[in-house]
Order: sequence, then structure tokens, then C-alpha cells
Amino acid sequence: MSARVLVVDDVPANVKLLEARLSAEYFDVVTASSGAQALEICARARCDIVLLDVMMPDMDGFEVCRRLKTSPATHFVPVVMITALDSPSDRVRGLEAGADDFLTKPVSDVVLTARVRSLTRLKMMTDELRLRAVTSLEIGMQAPERDAVADAGKGGRILLVDDRASSYERLAALLSAEHTVDVETDPSEALFHAAENNYDLLIVSLGLENFDGLRLCSQARSLERTRHVPILAIADANSNARLLRGLEIGVNDYLLRPVDKNELLARARTQIRRRRYTDRLRDNVQNSIEMAVTDGLTGLHNRRYLGSHLVTLAEQASTRGKPLALMMLDIDFFKSINDSYGHDAGDDVLREFAVRVRKSIRGIDLACRYGGEEFVIVMPETDLHVAGIVAERLRRSIAGEPFAVHNGAKRIEVTISIGLSMLERKGEPVANVLKRADLALYRAKHDGRNRVVAEAA
Ligand code: GH3
Ligand code: MG
Ligand code: MG
Repeated sequence: MSARVLVVDDVPANVKLLEARLSAEYFDVVTASSGAQALEICARARCDIVLLDVMMPDMDGFEVCRRLKTSPATHFVPVVMITALDSPSDRVRGLEAGADDFLTKPVSDVVLTARVRSLTRLKMMTDELRLRAVTSLEIGMQAPERDAVADAGKGGRILLVDDRASSYERLAALLSAEHTVDVETDPSEALFHAAENNYDLLIVSLGLENFDGLRLCSQARSLERTRHVPILAIADANSNARLLRGLEIGVNDYLLRPVDKNELLARARTQIRRRRYTDRLRDNVQNSIEMAVTDGLTGLHNRRYLGSHLVTLAEQASTRGKPLALMMLDIDFFKSINDSYGHDAGDDVLREFAVRVRKSIRGIDLACRYGGEEFVIVMPETDLHVAGIVAERLRRSIAGEPFAVHNGAKRIEVTISIGLSMLERKGEPVANVLKRADLALYRAKHDGRNRVVAEAA
């Protein structure tokens, strides 16, 4: 899918010009001739980037940008301000309004497409994360956009890679006003330094003495530990070609020397804010994945996860020609624990039960809460004999030590019954294996509980 670019300018000729250039690069272009119209389009349709003229009647570009960036619905859409003005203070004003970049008219073709490409690439990556994070919203977690809108982008941890004392001393002093800054003067150490610490931003000088700063940027992009850390490059004026190359390999933003103090701070804040936003998104996705497969009370896997993973384990066992054992466990007379000591005490027992289960099994075994007080443990590379030994050990670890409930105020005796089964043959439906374990469990209950019964041979 090609990225959709919204071009906003009150002068039709400017709109036409940008539209023609971007269409030639296969972008899907939408246009607006006023700020109000731009906001309306962004609210209604997906836009992957907004190219925004600054000087417009009614509502100027700064205001449009501010509104886009403060709304959780459009916060994540990159905005590039395009203007005839080119003083650091104007750039800073744009960046303060939340702009991701600033291009000066007349905009060169190469710079335009490089910027639009790199920003839309980034946007698509965050889109993917946002899509997955939606699930976490449905289960009641906070929308990361709300935090992102409120984040001032200060208090970041920055690694500055620069080997010229006159340069890094000034930059570090400027940045220290808002962030914690480490300086690395040895470029060959920089990558290790960056990988070992959790930085919010790497600032790399491209004018290093004996080292190619771009190579460092590209290495940082390919290393797992630093892949997501934004990079701000600092280059001498007239190094356009290198900067474009930098944007291609994943440099997020750049500044030209002499570095303007406010522009440096504004660009650093923008990168740090975006970094925190994507981190939050990533955490949310991680959490929702975990929540989707884990039982909240016991921390064991849930039945849904068992349903999908048991199939995989059975296939693995079949192709490798290894046995696969399955245990179905049920707490004896659990209802009477609830009835005698209360539901909370019942929950305490379930939690402690899970702790003892985890201690009794191997890392490769899969333990799941199958129902209220029913559990399933799947044991790869385990035959019925060994499974019987493990089950017996587990049964004793439950029956042998009373369970503390009500914060330790009370201790109660708990026992479990266990049914065992094996994957019989290649391609056998896992439902059958579960069914046979369930039948064995039924016999264990029937025969007096607190015991292990294996399926009939
Ligand atoms: P048996 O020995 O035959 O297994 O008897 P039992 O009482 O354990 O079996 P039954 O299936 O009759 O009762 C299970 C009880 O488990 C009923 C239900 O209220 C309780 N239960 C299910 N989930 C939870 C839970 O999350 N917390 C608590 N405290 N109780 C639960
Ligand atoms: Mg029970
Ligand atoms: Mg039961």
C-alpha cells in the first residue's frame, strides 16, 4: 500500500507542484487549501504524513500542527512544515508545535522524497504496533497516545558521539539543561556503550576524525539492542548527499552546524517523545500478548493457549518420534474449601497450587489452567512411566504441606487427583489425548481421590 500524503497550502500552484512531484514517486496524494480543511481530512481519513504550509490565512501552519499533535487521534501522524521563512527561531516554533521536520521553500526533490519516505516508513511501523495495541485498549489499558500528548520530551538519556572537544563540550552543556548526557569520544566504543545502556537518543557527529559516522548509524540500526533508539545526526553545512544517505539508512533527524541551541533542544525533545511513545506501544503489545495467553489468577497459561500450543507440541513429538505425556489435575473437594473458608481462601489455594506446580515441572513442560480448579500439564519427551513419577511427586508436594490462606492466618489441607495419558500415534487429535486423561482423572476421583491414575494400557 502506498503512503498517503496530505499536502496543505493556500496557494494552488504550490499544491500542484508538490502533488506532481510526490505522485511521480508513487505516493497517494490528497490536498487541502486551508488549515481547517486539513484538520477535517485528517479526522476523517487515514493520512500517513502531512506537508504543511506555514503561512496561511485564518489558521496558520503552526496552529494546524499544534492541533494535530495534541489530539490523540492524529498525534502519531508525522508533520513536515514547509515554509519560505528560514530562521532558527521559525524552525523552533514549528518544532515546538510538534512538527517532525521543517523544509524550506524551494524544496529540493531529493530532500523532499527522502524525508517523506523515512517519516512514512516510521509511521507505518508505529501503525503496525498501534494496531496490535488496540487489543490492550479493549481489555482496559490506557491509550499510549494520552501519555504521548502530555509528554514534554524532557529528562531523556542521551549518548553523544563526537570526538571534537570544542564541539561536544558545547553540545553536552546545551543538552544537559533538559537531559542526562553521556559523551563518547571513541566511535569504536560507541556501539557497545549504546548497547549496554538504555538511551532515549543517540546524537552522532558525522564529522568524526578517523571514523565514518554513517557507518556507526547503520550499525546501530542493525543491532538488536539499539535498533529502536532514535538517531540525530549532526553534520557540517554542504553535506547534503551524506545526510540523504543517512536518512536512507535510518537516521531519524539531523542538524547542521553551527548548531542552534533551541533547534537542538527542540529536535531532541521530538525524538525522545516519539521514542517513549513507541516504547509504550511496544509494552502494550507485549502486555496484551501476555494477557491473551495467561491466566490472571495463577499466572499459568490459559486454556486458549493450551488449545493452540498443544497441537504444536503434538506435531513436534510426532515428527521427532518422541513421546508426549499429558496430565489432567483437579483439586479435591475444592467447592468445600470455598464453602468453609470463603472464595478468597479458594483463590489463595489456586495461586499457591500454581507455585508448587511450577516448582515440580521442567521449563519445557507446559502448565495451563484448564478450568476453575482443573489444570493440564503437557510434558514433551516424557513417557508414561516418567510422567507417573512426576505426577506422584506433585501429588505429594500438595498433600504433604498445608496451604496458607487469609495471609497465613489459617492453614488448610489440600489434595489433588491426577489423570495421565499419552499421545498414541502420529496425527492423533489432541482432543482424544485430553479426553483419555480426563477419563483417568475420573477414575482417580472415583477410586478415592488424592491419587494418580494412568490411562488404561
Ligand atoms: P471434586 O473433588 O469432585 O473435584 O470436587 P470439587 O468440589 O473440587 O469439584 P466441583 O467441580 O464440584 O467444584 C469446583 C469448585 O471450584 C466450584 C467453583 O465455585 C470453584 N471455583 C472455580 N473457579 C474458582 C476460582 O477461580 N476461585 C475460587 N475460589 N473457586 C473457584
Ligand atoms: Mg475439584
Ligand atoms: Mg472440577
